Amino acid sequence: MQTLADTAAPRARAEGVDFDVVVVGAGFAGLYMLHRLRGLGLSVRVLEAASGVGGTWYWNRYPGARCDVESVEYSYQFSLELQQEWDWSERYAAQPELLRYANHVADRFDLRRDIQFDTRVRAATFDDTANRWIIETENGARLCASYCVMATGCLSVPNEPKFKGTGTFAGPTYHTGRWPHEGVDFSGQRVGIIGTGSSAVQSIPIIAEQAAHLYVFQRTPSFVVPARNAPLSQREAEAVKAEYPALRALAKTRRNGLFCATTDMSALAVSDAERERAFRERYDRGGLCYTGTFNDLLIDQRANESAADFLRARIREVVKDPDVAETLCPRTVVGGKRLCIDTGYYEAFNRPNVTLIDLNKAPLEVITRDGLITGGKAYRVDTIVYAIGFDAMTGALTRIDIRGKDGTRLAEKWAQGPRTYLGLSVAGFPNLFAITGPGSPSVLTNMLPTIEQHVDWIADCIDYLRARKFRRIEATQDAESAWVAEVNRIAEGTLFPTCNSWYLGANIPGKPRVFMPYIGFPPYVEKCNDVAANGYSGFALS
Ligand code: NAP
Repeated sequence: MQTLADTAAPRARAEGVDFDVVVVGAGFAGLYMLHRLRGLGLSVRVLEAASGVGGTWYWNRYPGARCDVESVEYSYQFSLELQQEWDWSERYAAQPELLRYANHVADRFDLRRDIQFDTRVRAATFDDTANRWIIETENGARLCASYCVMATGCLSVPNEPKFKGTGTFAGPTYHTGRWPHEGVDFSGQRVGIIGTGSSAVQSIPIIAEQAAHLYVFQRTPSFVVPARNAPLSQREAEAVKAEYPALRALAKTRRNGLFCATTDMSALAVSDAERERAFRERYDRGGLCYTGTFNDLLIDQRANESAADFLRARIREVVKDPDVAETLCPRTVVGGKRLCIDTGYYEAFNRPNVTLIDLNKAPLEVITRDGLITGGKAYRVDTIVYAIGFDAMTGALTRIDIRGKDGTRLAEKWAQGPRTYLGLSVAGFPNLFAITGPGSPSVLTNMLPTIEQHVDWIADCIDYLRARKFRRIEATQDAESAWVAEVNRIAEGTLFPTCNSWYLGANIPGKPRVFMPYIGFPPYVEKCNDVAANGYSGFALS
């Protein structure tokens, strides 16, 4: 019987589209993966749907888009020279600066010559006989590779608006995750924004300054902590650069991979005054550190409630209208959804041109030609902004028609939730790796070190296989099942599953409710290292 590789591989070789590795995506993961694989002397082709590098920071250009991890941490550490030579201008880098950084890395390491832009991957099929992946692009090209690495990102597939009447609206609509490169001028316009997650929290203050009127349609209020963004002085930057190796090493000991430590105190073991002082100190410092004020905020409901009370009190201090303040007060778990980091978010609701609409009291009924109707009331708007998030963690993988060794589709295998071994590999899908896949710490950490850890592990693994003349690696069903159980066991010991978050797929109607990330960066790294040190235990090599 003729296999797909019998026909595709010789042609691919002849056409120069036969590689050791095909990498899908040229964001921070794909760029570093290319660099590492090249260093092993492998032939690599990176396929990227966008016209440039940068991934998340290529697409998310909405007003105010900015990283919620400090710039000195949200950066590569694989090159000491790069780490020393790049200067960040602010405590939290804005999207244009992050994109400049991605482009700088691509140029500095001469990566572009192996990246094919404007190329979206449609399908990837494993040929069991030839041990090769056949990758097909949307423009009809076919490539072959011994290994396929999915560097497709965790938050790269926008949650499409499916409201009743969505298509009937006459004016322009924008999704924060696919913002036009030329920007949008909201001057003089009535704007409706749906969603109040991180993207909305960043963009609302800026749109409010421009628009004639901004209507904010909120389903679930978010917990928001001030960023306290500021220019990064040369003195501060130099202090970090002098200490980089030690700081990076320390961050690897943290559950979330950040410089900032979680204390070893319980919120319930201190006096009310001490607790208040501790929250105040972290709140004044700004940023994601807030959830590390005490060690039990994400495992004990009462401890978490104290952190929530503190933040609700801050909302009531800032927002002048008591009814609006109460509507903005979240009743969920602090940190159960990713904390939002703001500059001027609550202050925006004191503006006369901003109206908050509580979709819990007045559900969104329909989008019409002229605007939105909620609870029987019509809001006429000129423009709608959808800040409704992403089909997170699995969406970028399941939308590609990935077929494993017996033709099984990944999307079918994951119909009841993602199943991986270490978030890196899937049983039945040999020689396929995912960077920051579901079942790995990824989105619960600082993504850059997490990406580097995965890339290094994958590169070392491929190097190991080649040195020993193995042509194939596949996670065993047993190892995968045990890992899925472990990811769930750890999540169940926390408050995370109590929130309707995208960590659980709860933001996408019909998506199975499964907690997807693995909680705890250091034990995860230890497990990955052990697996490698034991000759890739849990994998079948042949
Ligand atoms: P998100 O956190 O998923 O927020 C989406 C918002 O849209 C939520 O308020 C959600 O309400 C609402 N929504 C979704 N579907 C809706 C519907 N059918 N009707 C009404 N409201 C609906 O998405 P995001 O703000 O784009 O952020 C996603 C993630 O990207 C963040 O958690 C973060 O990890 C990352 N991010 C980071 C930064 C940063 O670094 N500063 C910035 C932006 C994004 P519900 O909560 O009720 O579902």
